Amino acid sequence: MTEHPAPAVEARGLRRTFNGAVAVDDLSLEVAEGELFALLGPSGCGKTTALRIIAGFEPAEAGTLSLHGRLMVDRTTNVPPERRGVGMVFQDYALFPHMSVAENVAYGLDDGGQRALRTEEALALVGLTGLGRRGVHELSGGEQQRVALARALAPRPQLLLLDEPFSNLDPSLRSQVRTELRGVIERAGISALLVTHDQEEALSIAGSLAFMWKGRIDQVGRPDEVYREPATVHAARFIGDANIWSFPAEGGRVHTPLGDFAAPDGASHCAVVVRPEDLQVQAGGARGEVMQRQYYGHDQVLFVRLEGGTELRVRLAPHERLGGAGPIALGLRRDPLVLADDGPANRPDDGAADGPEDGSD
Ligand code: ATP
Repeated sequence: MTEHPAPAVEARGLRRTFNGAVAVDDLSLEVAEGELFALLGPSGCGKTTALRIIAGFEPAEAGTLSLHGRLMVDRTTNVPPERRGVGMVFQDYALFPHMSVAENVAYGLDDGGQRALRTEEALALVGLTGLGRRGVHELSGGEQQRVALARALAPRPQLLLLDEPFSNLDPSLRSQVRTELRGVIERAGISALLVTHDQEEALSIAGSLAFMWKGRIDQVGRPDEVYREPATVHAARFIGDANIWSFPAEGGRVHTPLGDFAAPDGASHCAVVVRPEDLQVQAGGARGEVMQRQYYGHDQVLFVRLEGGTELRVRLAPHERLGGAGPIALGLRRDPLVLADDGPANRPDDGAADGPEDGSD
């Protein structure tokens, strides 16, 4: 029987406050060896602070941290960043503009015979062989991002920590560099923890993700699990596109224009979550009017007002029911998610409109 390797990251109960305000609260997470894990959440939820605690740039006030089974943080331990065996890629790349590509990549390496070899090796990993002599200022944004990645990889870390590494790239380059990053991490045979506020990024490249909200982790799972079964209203709203309605529970059920559904035990109020793609045109379904149609090529979104006033968005294949405004009848492809929504703490308050939002890409 093969022995189970220790997780690349094992954080338990990490906490950090700034001037009395909690930035990271009882944060626990585990990144498996060889995994690309995303920490996803809105701006200010504490992602960067969590990453900085793991990197060793920020002290934790409580909790423990082990990397690859080695204790880094507890009440009496705080291993300095340079002894944690991690590589870090920052949002702004933090490259030295007056240095060449190779000098930037070699910056953190010890002097010695291995220096040039490791630099070449790291440049090859990111596909920049032969560009070592170039000045950093002579590179495109995507190339600079790869230099930052090469610099982090050159000391051969076991773990890569990435803080919004794609946010300075334009959208077309972003998806290309994302794909490359995944390949680089696999080739290097290391683990990675990526911090991002971009749900598409987290869904598309991570093996697992944690959704973070106000300093705490709300949910951890595979991207498809978190998307299909968000654990909280915040996760449902932030990750992907969702119609979310608030209904009272009566006798353990919620009555919605699309049918009656079981409410969670003990809930007096519920949030009913329906992804636009989980709706379909259905004879005999809930009747409404198409108010607007937006065509995206790969799909289309209908804005519908049901009889009774409930508004929702429906995502259909591009060729389905072409045409503009008019009557429509809708049904569900699967039961909606019904979450307890008792009190303002779990109500959407992240600045988004209360009605269905446009999450089209
Ligand atoms: P973003 O995506 O905008 O970078 P984030 O999720 O990474 O946000 P953090 O940067 O970790 O969030 O910040 C979490 C909270 O802690 C915020 O309220 C922030 O203002 C606060 N904070 C972070 N660093 C400091 C600091 N050095 N001093 C005081 N407050 C801080």
